[in-house]
Amino acid sequence: MSNLELTVQVRTGGFVGPPADPATVLRALTHALDMLPLRRVVMGWAPDSPVYRQAADLLHSRDVQLFLWLPVLSEVGLLQPCSPVIGSDGHPAAAYHLDDTENFEFYCPTDPANLRAALDIFEQHFDATCFDGVLLDKIRYPSFASGTFGCFCPRCRARYDAAGLQFDGHNWRSFYDVRSGIILDALAPICAAFHQKGLRVGLDVFAPLLSKSVGQDIAALSKMADFIKPMMYAITNSPAGLPFELNGIDKVMGLKGDPREYCSLGFCAEQITWLQAVCDCPIHPGIEVNRLPGIADTTPEYVAACLQAYQGADGVVLSWNLLDMPPENLQAVAYS
Ligand SMILES: [Zn+2]
Repeated sequence: MSNLELTVQVRTGGFVGPPADPATVLRALTHALDMLPLRRVVMGWAPDSPVYRQAADLLHSRDVQLFLWLPVLSEVGLLQPCSPVIGSDGHPAAAYHLDDTENFEFYCPTDPANLRAALDIFEQHFDATCFDGVLLDKIRYPSFASGTFGCFCPRCRARYDAAGLQFDGHNWRSFYDVRSGIILDALAPICAAFHQKGLRVGLDVFAPLLSKSVGQDIAALSKMADFIKPMMYAITNSPAGLPFELNGIDKVMGLKGDPREYCSLGFCAEQITWLQAVCDCPIHPGIEVNRLPGIADTTPEYVAACLQAYQGADGVVLSWNLLDMPPENLQAVAYS
């Protein structure tokens, strides 16, 4: 067994749609606890479920932390009114349809109402006493894969104007910097509010290669986090997966070479080493351990190779749903 600190994610459901059965979740958790020296479990984000109290009792009796997995700039519009990201054509950005429990609709990161949503939802639908922390997800702009790369509502345009941005096609770096500044400004009070509640804050971010393209300056974000989870999903064909997102960038801008060349575990590990050098908090790369045919065709060999590649990290997050992790993949973790 390697010395990497282990975190596992469990999807209890979306803000709408049928939640996972609490008994099934607890059974899977018990099995994982017996098999792996887990340090932390991240569960979310079905609202108003008894599963969190039951999981907290189980986990805390074994000295394992429980974090709530909570989306911030997407999904929250399912529970309260939020204003969407507006594309450069003046229309709301198109959303990616994964399934009926996740809307992948992104909300404008400069609208104060949107920035209150995650916190409001936390206070209304979750019992803070169950949790040791929160893992904030979807803290970004929609990615190139969605065909939109920023918000062009009047308020956001004013931010671009104030920064002196001109959209003449030669300004990607400054545009990226301004957008990263907007995401940082959006996140700072949210992280502070959770810290004030005595909760730790983990941040779910894109792989460093792609993070700037969605407005994430990970080094700057690390100053407001207790750990960072870069999603190093090297074989996932859905949002945040490297092959999926690189294809999206390739379509919009054209990549030099084959998108798959950017997905090697060696290159992923280099990005983690770089992050550790520039960040102020521990780095726990997220690796796909669940198996979803056609989306994440994971094998025990792939899982073992990931753990080997990230030996120098502070830990790994077994992503993104324990309920879909085949026993042989969990065994690969136990034997690595
Ligand atoms: Zn906007």
